[in-house]
Amino acid sequence: MHNEISSLLGNLEKPLLFSSRNNYSNIYKIKNLPGLVEEISLKILSLNPPPDLKESIESIRKSFRSYENQDYTNKIKAIQDTLKMIKKMKSAPPGNVKALNPSNQPEAGSTKNLKDKIQYIKGIGPKLAKNFERKEIRTIEDLLFYFPRKYEDRRKIKKISTINPGNRETVTGEVIVSGIVKTGSRTLYNVIINDGTSNLGIIWFRFNQKYLKNTYKKGTRVCINGEITYNRYEKILQIIHPSPEDIEVIDSNDILEESLNFNRVVPIYPLTEGLRQKRLRSILKNVSDNYSALYSGLIPDEIRSSYDLVRLDTAISKVHYPDNNACVVDIGSSGSVYRSKPHRTIAFFEFFIMELAVGLLKNEIRKKRSLPVNSKGNYERMLKDSLPFELTQAQKRVLEEIKDDMRNKHPMNRLLQGDVGSGKTIVALLSMLNIVESGYQAVLMAPTEILAEQHFRSISAYLDGMDIGISILKSGITSKHKQKTNEDIRSGMSRIIVGTHALIEDKVEFDKLGLVIVDEQHRFGVRQRSTLINKGVNPHVLVMTATPIPRTLAISLYGDLDVSVIDQLPEGRKGIKTLLYRNNKTNRQKIYSTVEEELKQGRQAYFVCPMIESSEESDIDGVSFAVELADDLQKNVFSDYEVGILHGRMSSEEKDETMNMFLGNSINVLVSTTVIEVGVDVPNATLMVIENAERFGLSQLHQLRGRIGRGNYVSKCILMCSYRVSGDAAKKLKVMCDTSDGFVIAEEDLKIRGPGDFLGTKQSGMPEFKFADLVRDYRILTESRKAAMDITGRDTNLDNYPELKKYIKSKKNIISGSDHIS
Ligand code: ADP
Ligand code: MG
Repeated sequence: MHNEISSLLGNLEKPLLFSSRNNYSNIYKIKNLPGLVEEISLKILSLNPPPDLKESIESIRKSFRSYENQDYTNKIKAIQDTLKMIKKMKSAPPGNVKALNPSNQPEAGSTKNLKDKIQYIKGIGPKLAKNFERKEIRTIEDLLFYFPRKYEDRRKIKKISTINPGNRETVTGEVIVSGIVKTGSRTLYNVIINDGTSNLGIIWFRFNQKYLKNTYKKGTRVCINGEITYNRYEKILQIIHPSPEDIEVIDSNDILEESLNFNRVVPIYPLTEGLRQKRLRSILKNVSDNYSALYSGLIPDEIRSSYDLVRLDTAISKVHYPDNNACVVDIGSSGSVYRSKPHRTIAFFEFFIMELAVGLLKNEIRKKRSLPVNSKGNYERMLKDSLPFELTQAQKRVLEEIKDDMRNKHPMNRLLQGDVGSGKTIVALLSMLNIVESGYQAVLMAPTEILAEQHFRSISAYLDGMDIGISILKSGITSKHKQKTNEDIRSGMSRIIVGTHALIEDKVEFDKLGLVIVDEQHRFGVRQRSTLINKGVNPHVLVMTATPIPRTLAISLYGDLDVSVIDQLPEGRKGIKTLLYRNNKTNRQKIYSTVEEELKQGRQAYFVCPMIESSEESDIDGVSFAVELADDLQKNVFSDYEVGILHGRMSSEEKDETMNMFLGNSINVLVSTTVIEVGVDVPNATLMVIENAERFGLSQLHQLRGRIGRGNYVSKCILMCSYRVSGDAAKKLKVMCDTSDGFVIAEEDLKIRGPGDFLGTKQSGMPEFKFADLVRDYRILTESRKAAMDITGRDTNLDNYPELKKYIKSKKNIISGSDHIS
């Protein structure tokens, strides 16, 4: 019956829509509209519709009884009102939308799937699909999770005569002027719109003239949102350089019909070439109407009620198409997102899936049997006895935690966090010795050759005289040499193996791999880590990082790992003084003399240059910047000393040679790009000058600064910032001067840059959330983590939640190593 009513509503809608076309001039083309309306209305009433529907139909009949006697304006109004009512009837009862809307149903027999390609959706052809593909949207699921980046309240659009400068407003109007204007040396594009009450100017500075001219022709209607300013010379209100998302061309139907684009809170999507807001809105409305139901069962009822969420399908629809009385959600604000149930539900869901995967992984590891580590600690004692220093309390504690783990019957899976210089390497080495003494091999993977070599050298020195086979595996060695090394690793001659990602090549086979240590892990892809781990049978795993990871991120990045923190620096460190200077001649002179004083005392200095992408504005990139600086320093400033250079375009042999010369103090000043960022240890270097410091992230500055202050001398880090840097950016840099606590800096950095940029690339193993935001939604993360841990604690394999389990499995890479999920 519903279907029949629905198709009758469609029949009713058609002539009305037709009348509304061409700005309602079609009203005169249609014959006997009231008769048609009456006829169809009676048919609907004869089907005995539900009471509210009946009421609406009756009121439509009433308004058309006097239709013929109305003037033009009132006729339009009658049509508008009726169209609105029909829309409402079609969409009112949520459960019945589909039943009432047979045209949107898939053809009989077809099954819907979230993995369906979007081309198969009505209205998306191959061309549009290609545009979507640029945003990595290929499937229905991708599309449903393509969420608005903000909303605009278009329930009551103000008249231009009533708006004031200083506010952000939305207005509509008809283009009355459109073209280029020249003011002095500048060429602008100028559009003026009028809404019957007043004019508003729109100005573009950079523009594609042809595009603007074609898009905003005289007579075109537009809707625009932006900050209103007042142009005193032209005496006109203006919006200056609107972003493409904030201006759209509309036609009369948009306003007059009950539309996706007006008279409501309207979603604004991130745009991509070839995709306009209106198109996106209608596609997403259609897709969420038809497909979001596939998500209906994914948040278990008990979780939904405990955490006050809505059903996931409801959430998806409402985020794309907010209720008419919805409050406008400010997506940037955690409070606003938290208060909107649909938005909170989406964020919760994304976290929930990740946390469930983490819980399952943990359960999986708990099932594994590990290798019995039964060393007596002889090797450990031998090394400790030969060390010129005593381990710090923090080092001792962490070493015990690791040893406890390795004695456990399940494999260790631990993250070792320690600020730069906190002494992670020695802890790692002592752990390796315990494994080796139990008859296994240990491997240490470092992200760069320089670092791998440094580890190899220091380990070899530490273990001198202990008769333990140590190998290094890296890409820059001859194949013959490599073959020999591989043979040693396979036969078990090598007990401790240090290397770069060369270690994960297929050829590399271990005899009995018992411990995998990954240094500076977030530079490795998740896959690389697991490839190495899979070369052993349930080896113990220790991941080391010097990036202090804020709690927010640690949970999601390393939720499956236990965490140890070395939160203490070895004694005797003299600390680092950090100073901030604006880059000008006087300051530079001052800095050079400071450097020279250090050099005179036999110390060494770094100059670090940022990676500058060559662009139109400047044709220098980071490398040539560094090369020029080195040249200048050598010729004009430190001519009595040796100035060296290190950058990413050098071969690894060249880099090693330079680094070794610096280590031996035959290079006194090293000018470098950021390649020295990670781990390299030159205790005699006591000064670091960082050029254009504002171009670095705070965490990166902290890492760089960690290269000095490693010996027994007071070190200085000098941050040079460009003269044009704003007060805010300089304030940010002041954080560096005020604290050397990596966690404080990391939190600050995370706030400024957001998680994606904070961790760098996709390589980071960071799950990609479509809507959820680790910083903004931290509160929601905590809730969903709790919910997920409750479930996986009770139901270790999610047997009672088959739908959820299937979904998680379909999201293979959601967390590091989730391939293990059975
Ligand atoms: P990171 O944690 O940055 O990797 P390293 O392991 O490279 O730090 O250690 C930095 C330096 O501190 C090394 O030269 C190391 O020999 C030294 N070191 C490590 N532990 C101690 C300690 N307990 N006391 C004094 N020096 C130490
Ligand atoms: Mg290190």
